[in-house]
Amino acid sequence: MNLDQAYSPDAFRQQGHALIDLLADHLQRAQTGTQPTINYIEPDKALTYWQTDFEQPIQSDPLPLFTDIIERSIHVHNPRFMGHQIAPPLPLSALTGVLTGLLSQGMGVYEMGMTANALERIVTQWLAQKLNLGAEAGGLLTSGGTLANLTALLTARAIVGGTPDSDHNVWQDGTTNRLAIMVSGEAHYCVDRAARIMGLGSAGIIKIPVNERYQMRTELMDDYLKRAKADGLTVFAVVGSACSTSTGSYDDLTAIADFCTRHNLWFHADGAHGGVAALSDTYRHLVQGIDRADSVVIDFHKMMMIPALTTAVLYRRDADAYRTFQQRAQYLWTDADAKDWFNSGKRTFECTKLMMSAKIYAILHTYGERIFTEYIDTVYGLARRFAGQIRNRPTLEVAIEPESNIVCFRHAGDGSHTLAYLNERNAQIRQKLLQDGRFYIVQTTLNGQLWLRVSLMNSFTTDAQLSELLDDITACI
Ligand SMILES: *Cc1c(COP(=O)(O)O)cnc(C)c1O
Repeated sequence: MNLDQAYSPDAFRQQGHALIDLLADHLQRAQTGTQPTINYIEPDKALTYWQTDFEQPIQSDPLPLFTDIIERSIHVHNPRFMGHQIAPPLPLSALTGVLTGLLSQGMGVYEMGMTANALERIVTQWLAQKLNLGAEAGGLLTSGGTLANLTALLTARAIVGGTPDSDHNVWQDGTTNRLAIMVSGEAHYCVDRAARIMGLGSAGIIKIPVNERYQMRTELMDDYLKRAKADGLTVFAVVGSACSTSTGSYDDLTAIADFCTRHNLWFHADGAHGGVAALSDTYRHLVQGIDRADSVVIDFHKMMMIPALTTAVLYRRDADAYRTFQQRAQYLWTDADAKDWFNSGKRTFECTKLMMSAKIYAILHTYGERIFTEYIDTVYGLARRFAGQIRNRPTLEVAIEPESNIVCFRHAGDGSHTLAYLNERNAQIRQKLLQDGRFYIVQTTLNGQLWLRVSLMNSFTTDAQLSELLDDITACI
């Protein structure tokens, strides 16, 4: 093999056709759900398998390798996949991934992504308008919700994180005051991580308790703010979850917006999973108040059927995004202070960045935005009916009435069992399902209780298959 052969258009054409055939067959099999969702292998065994494979002589045909990778991966297109929050990607967005992979636009400066940067501008403004963020809204795409939340919190700190009596500039002077954020106890762990990366420490992450539906108890915020001030902390932002990860609960965003307006704080909405409810007439009420957020994060790879990772950070005032990083990189940008939307690297963590925008743009261009609404309505509706099915089973219980497509439930025993016993039994049920491999579900802990958890990410999952899952669980009990 030499470089000429490796770059051969003819070989690419032939291998490409073969790969698409392989993936189309895989998609067909996965969607009919006749095969396992996962062939679970212990980590050490998986590693040994691939180490042995790695030691083989090179093989000029990549197809057996591709086949092997497919077989040894979890199949998110199987309607019995209902585990973590990854959407089965639309085949068209996967094809766009091949396209953008070959074009490999760097994006950080305009010429390295002329189309990529223009499409990013269009899709972020489109989504910002769908959230009703107003005429000045805009945003950027970045690599995942975790990085997106950190980006938004850095913007918040740059803009409102100064002490009231000084012209404090964190970029210039570092963190000289004790800063803090307020967040629900049920927020995704990445918010806590972001705050610690920013140097806020444990004291700087003020966790507001949740109510019985796992929503932030917004009526407590004033007290917590007073206490923080008395402790010498400067709170600069509040993070609302739309929705939370464990139970899919939506915080009262209007109450948070009111609080932030009253105290001149940055309102960040973490809509990584459920922010897209804004696109549905049926479920828009869940995100009421999101239009008043200063920044919003939405993962396209969760509820918008795009392959991982693709995330939007949206700002009510697009210009705010230029204040996050005040980098001077003379070899990249001639005018470091210009608010030039087309040099995406000024506003993102990434220098070189994937051309994510094309995957979203291709979906909107080919199917229109209705496809997103149809998806949300389907999987959110499915979760509501699933909760009804669970309630009809005497040995099972639901944690809360689902607001999104996330449902937590468990084997509840007959009232005579201890907490430890029930936790153990539910963990065993989940382990048995994993080993069996037909269904893939996960688990979570709420107030010390272990719950089985599904995210109904697959729009082809049927009520009958959900009933079958409950049959399997009941049979384990
Ligand atoms: C998944 C999730 C995140 C993290 O996003 P990644 O894309 O996995 O990094 C953050 N917040 C919420 C509410 C989430 O559900």
